Amino acid sequence: MKRPGKIAKLLIKTFFKKPITGNYPADGSGMPEGFRGKLKFNPSACIGCKMCMRDCPSGAIEIRKTGEKQFEAEVNLARCIYCGQCVDSCLKKALEITADFELAKLDPAQLKVILNAANKEQPKA
Ligand code: SF4
Ligand code: SF4
Repeated sequence: MKRPGKIAKLLIKTFFKKPITGNYPADGSGMPEGFRGKLKFNPSACIGCKMCMRDCPSGAIEIRKTGEKQFEAEVNLARCIYCGQCVDSCLKKALEITADFELAKLDPAQLKVILNAANKEQPKA
């Protein structure tokens, strides 16, 4: 008879342990602290300096003036590499990283989103 391999010992050892994986999506995303997901824009803090645009390594963000001291951000979620450089470059804290990673869309055109004064995400027309 074959002797049980090392795997048998491991199976017994781990059988009563709680799984380290999460029950996604039932128990939420549970992303760890510091996870870099979708950007959030705070238009009232933006001064239109475009430092975020200048420093973005993938050309994924564009800041446009929409009125007197009013700006909107267009973010291409397909180009963004979620590095957080724009957040670090913004001295006015007008950008922040969220833990939102559920960004898939059926239509790639919907991955270009405009964040404006209403702070509502709008797919680019
Ligand atoms: S760096 Fe900040 S303040 Fe400057 S344009 Fe970008 S979001 Fe606005
Ligand atoms: S997170 Fe990185 S890639 Fe995405 S818009 Fe900001 S600087 Fe560009």
